[in-house]
Amino acid sequence: MVYCRKIIQEMSIEIDNILSDFMIGGKKLSIIEQGSEVFIELEVEDAVHKCVSMDRGKWKYFCDHLEKIKLAVKNYLIRAREGTYALHLGKNLFVTVTHGVPCIDFRKWYLPKDGGFLKPSLNGVALKLDEFEALMETLIDINDDIPYLDSVIPCQYSHQNELNCQHCTQSAPMN
Ligand SMILES: [Zn+2]
Repeated sequence: MVYCRKIIQEMSIEIDNILSDFMIGGKKLSIIEQGSEVFIELEVEDAVHKCVSMDRGKWKYFCDHLEKIKLAVKNYLIRAREGTYALHLGKNLFVTVTHGVPCIDFRKWYLPKDGGFLKPSLNGVALKLDEFEALMETLIDINDDIPYLDSVIPCQYSHQNELNCQHCTQSAPMN
């Protein structure tokens, strides 16, 4: 189970090590070592449940799709063309860029109890356009601070089909 840092602090569990912190506009990105794992956390300051946590695989998968995300930003936010780009980072975490919603949204989605389609939860971090640009400018520094990032292969690349993905413990959507 992965907890956001603020929630851990509330639970009075000591975390291992904050490797570095970056301010991205009004949002904060932290690189945190917990045991043998490293997590990249994006949070809205002073908002306990506005926090998303990514392991190295999810972060790498996000970085591998930056050109597509930038293209979606250009098309749907800047040129205001209709459409949506959604990237499934794994489990219940998605990055979306949607026409009419002026942000790059990192958010947990959930399956409603009565079935139907996935819905966005309240737990997420929406980067404004200038914050996304700030993130892009800081990216080299951020990635330099994440240990062994180069050696991470996101599990998504080993999925041969949808069924494999459903059975993957690292990335299958939570029901
Ligand atoms: Zn997977």
